[in-house]
Amino acid sequence: MAFELPQLPFPLKALEPYITENTLSFHYGKHHQAYITNLNRLTEGTEFEKVSLETLITKATGAIYNNAAQVWNHTFYWNCMSPNGGGEPTGKLAEIINKNFGSFSDFKEKFTTAATSLFGSGWTWLVIKDNDKLEIIQESNAGCPLKNGLKPILTIDVWEHAYYLDYQNRRPEYVNAFWNVIDWKTIGKRIES
Ligand code: MN
Repeated sequence: MAFELPQLPFPLKALEPYITENTLSFHYGKHHQAYITNLNRLTEGTEFEKVSLETLITKATGAIYNNAAQVWNHTFYWNCMSPNGGGEPTGKLAEIINKNFGSFSDFKEKFTTAATSLFGSGWTWLVIKDNDKLEIIQESNAGCPLKNGLKPILTIDVWEHAYYLDYQNRRPEYVNAFWNVIDWKTIGKRIES
């Protein structure tokens, strides 16, 4: 069974005006699809043909790792957003954010700085490091925290293709807009599982 493009969890228009249908039709329909197509081409007939994406991310290197991680990262990114998103986390997630960062606004500031200051293409992640310890990490290119045994709960794609059509080179505007679509409900479930 070849790798397939997963369903987007919302319609292409659903995140407007923060992320437009135009951006998503390229980002999901062309970029995410291209990583899937490349991964299938690279793994066909190899030991990696029938293993999970998570196994590929842990074990593969080079082009297979890059494409597998980009497939996984994008699916995870779509599932961090919702047309009903925004606002602030509640419950246990709010508690551990406060415990780790002092307050939600301190966390927001640190995550925003990490996302806007990441040099070049990459991803900014919020991960769980053992138990209740949260950490913000920057990964270049296809970097995925699963490779280092960390559990991601939130990510933002800061490759230019994620925002160029809507914001051109103004990454900080895209990062600020992202807070309006973050799906805290889904992210909260990730700390309880
Ligand atoms: Mn992307």
